[in-house]
Amino acid sequence: MTFLAMPAPLEGVLERRGEIVAALQRIVPGEGVVHHPDGLRPFESDGLTAYRQMPMVVVLPQTVQQVSEVLRYCYEMGIRVVPRGSGTSLSGGALPLEDSVLLVMSRFNRILDIDFTNRAVVVQPGVTNLAITKAVMHAGFYYAPDPSSQIACSIGGNIGENSGGVHSLKYGLTTNNVLGLEIVLMNGEVVRLGGKHLDSEGYDFLALMTGSEGLLGLVTEVTVRILQAPETARAVLLGFPTSEGAGACVAAIIGEGIIPAGMEMMDRPAIHAAEDYVHAGYPLDVEALLIVELDGPLGEVDHLIARVEEIARNEGATHLRVSQSETERQVFWAGRKAAFPAIGRISPDYYCMDGTIPRKALPLVLRRMKEMSEQYGLGVANMFHAGDGNLHPLIMYDAAKENDLEKAEHFGADILRLCVEVGGVLTGEHGVGVEKRDLMETMFSEDDLAVQQLVKCAFDEKALLNPGKVFPQLCRCAELGRMHIHKGALPFPDIPRF
Ligand SMILES: Cc1cc2nc3c(=O)[nH]c(=O)nc-3n(C[C@H](O)[C@H](O)[C@H](O)COP(=O)(O)OP(=O)(O)OC[C@H]3O[C@@H](n4cnc5c(N)ncnc54)[C@H](O)[C@@H]3O)c2cc1C
Repeated sequence: MTFLAMPAPLEGVLERRGEIVAALQRIVPGEGVVHHPDGLRPFESDGLTAYRQMPMVVVLPQTVQQVSEVLRYCYEMGIRVVPRGSGTSLSGGALPLEDSVLLVMSRFNRILDIDFTNRAVVVQPGVTNLAITKAVMHAGFYYAPDPSSQIACSIGGNIGENSGGVHSLKYGLTTNNVLGLEIVLMNGEVVRLGGKHLDSEGYDFLALMTGSEGLLGLVTEVTVRILQAPETARAVLLGFPTSEGAGACVAAIIGEGIIPAGMEMMDRPAIHAAEDYVHAGYPLDVEALLIVELDGPLGEVDHLIARVEEIARNEGATHLRVSQSETERQVFWAGRKAAFPAIGRISPDYYCMDGTIPRKALPLVLRRMKEMSEQYGLGVANMFHAGDGNLHPLIMYDAAKENDLEKAEHFGADILRLCVEVGGVLTGEHGVGVEKRDLMETMFSEDDLAVQQLVKCAFDEKALLNPGKVFPQLCRCAELGRMHIHKGALPFPDIPRF
């Protein structure tokens, strides 16, 4: 495991562990407080398994009152808190700290209200993403954002990371599908934002909370929008001899004003790994594969499919197949959806990156990634939400080999720097967490980061909620307003930086 600098434990907290556990047990009685090492072990990591850290204590509250009392206690006692949903974050957002209370929301697992008239569902944050669709599909509805982890990830975690999926191109990310939230602030105060009604006046706190990675408050209730399932959905498989051709096809489809329900690209290593694993019928003699899905009324879908076929031929597609049944459509997607485990079969470990680039930069980025792959001596397979420009390179390494993880981390950081260099951003949907924290300065100036921290301070002035994530260095809130960093000479050099 490589070294990841995290905030040092706060003075005196670990020494008071027994007293803190007893106080938390009074707030959440029964089995809601876990403090023995064997019980803590399953919580030492999230989906970014390269990093592990046992928390001081795990608390699994069941009521908003308990969340509020736990936070108020921690606020008054100066104890750090790390929120956690299902722990599938790929950026280490739910990684515990040695002196932290890990507040796990998995017992908040009830669907509270299904309101077809207002096309809204109210759920507790521990409900899984897929469970929302399952609860409304009998009436022809669904919840649109569909991360590949939807069977396991919680809606609270989706809010934390502003998660997306294959269908976000047409239907938006979490932020576009959330109508209301109940949150508990670090001082224990309970706040409600939005609701089933459209737009509230004033600052858009809903958008601020969505993607805030557990740094601003604990989400205890979520109201989401549900959509009517489309009448038809059909997918087209398009194979290209070059990634340039596939990239040009994506640009041409969007340029024609067609917004597919999903538009995914895979490169040669990803195509071969997926085909070996699920036998989806992918062509093996192409460099890039596009899966383009069109949905809506039957006549419209048929018309759009014909236009996409024509565009693809013009851009040099050498393989073209349209799904003829729902089963075949599912088979087309099966390979893409199994791409992560497919890579897991051919590499002992992999590191999933998440950056976003302007679509036109794709061929350049793929070419540079190939060069880096040779330079680092590590393989890379690419999956790509092509319509959104969101890349998911999977770097293959072997943690048992000395320095392999370190090489993978450097390779990953170089890819993200490249994304920013070509006009893109550090993350598309997995968040910053600890993974991209130290790269934030490649994208934001010191002034930008100071302004972002002022927002954090307005919610959590003691910096107790999920510290060590997102921001590359700590600042004291009281000093932030006056802080000016000139030519890299930091004021307040005594403040811990990591
Ligand atoms: C195989 C695999 C595939 C994936 N595919 C996708 C994908 O297609 N798209 C995508 O976007 N992501 C994907 N992910 C990443 C991950 O599943 C998402 O980020 C997901 O939203 C995390 O949800 P979670 O419940 O596991 O949250 P956690 O990992 O527990 O936490 C995530 C963040 O949210 C915060 N948080 C959690 N719950 C709360 C709460 N109630 N209140 C306040 N803060 C909270 C945490 O502090 C943390 O910062 C994938 C992960 C895996 C392992």
